[in-house]
Amino acid sequence: MTDWPFLLAAAVFGAVVGSFLNVCIYRLPRGASIVWPASACARCGRTLSWFENVPIVSYVALRGRCRSCGDPISLRYPIVETMTALMFALGWWLYGPGVLLASRLVLGCALIVLFEIDREHQILPHAITLPGIVVGFAFSFFTEPGWEASLVGLLLGGGILLALGYGYYFLRHEEGLGMGDFKMLAMIGAFLGWRLTLVTLMMASISGSIVGIFLILTRRGGMKSALPFGTFLAVGAAVAAIAGPDLMNWYLSLW
Ligand SMILES: [Zn+2]
Repeated sequence: MTDWPFLLAAAVFGAVVGSFLNVCIYRLPRGASIVWPASACARCGRTLSWFENVPIVSYVALRGRCRSCGDPISLRYPIVETMTALMFALGWWLYGPGVLLASRLVLGCALIVLFEIDREHQILPHAITLPGIVVGFAFSFFTEPGWEASLVGLLLGGGILLALGYGYYFLRHEEGLGMGDFKMLAMIGAFLGWRLTLVTLMMASISGSIVGIFLILTRRGGMKSALPFGTFLAVGAAVAAIAGPDLMNWYLSLW
């Protein structure tokens, strides 16, 4: 089942899903419907025809510009489509067909959308995180991590960040973490269980610190101008889902 025709089919399907994720990324923060109307150029408003909607291929064929007004199309479109295609192929290769694959791909799609919306708009829409908590918990009855670990994960994930957020507010009288962050970690906890939620938080903190130090050293601004925490949670959860058990074994072997 890991022959290349299967991986290629998974990648093509992933690219099509990625095209839909682009629609979500563009429309959710603007409060627009994700199913209607058809995709159009953001500048001139002309509806795209089918051959301009082919994932990745259209962007290359159009050389990154609208066919009518010549306005540059955001590089985000082919990047999100490519990332989603790679994720589907990797997921198929790692898990094979089954409920675990479905669960991990649904989580992965949510993470891609949350990463990009948080990076662009500094918000984590409830329309993704709240249904994500429910769907992740529902999946846990049929696959990893099991409903008990999922329940503890979503309570722990939400609770830790909520406590940190209130603690920071109490000390500094300003919001350090957005309220969206703890809902996002609760969603991750529901999908991955409490153990991998801790790995997620650790990976997010480490990658956040590395980027923060890099920004300070290169004088591109202080911590305040760094990327929002949701982007690091997304990366941390991806690392935890793929390499979490190995990371935990390695960490425990140090003691
Ligand atoms: Zn246009």
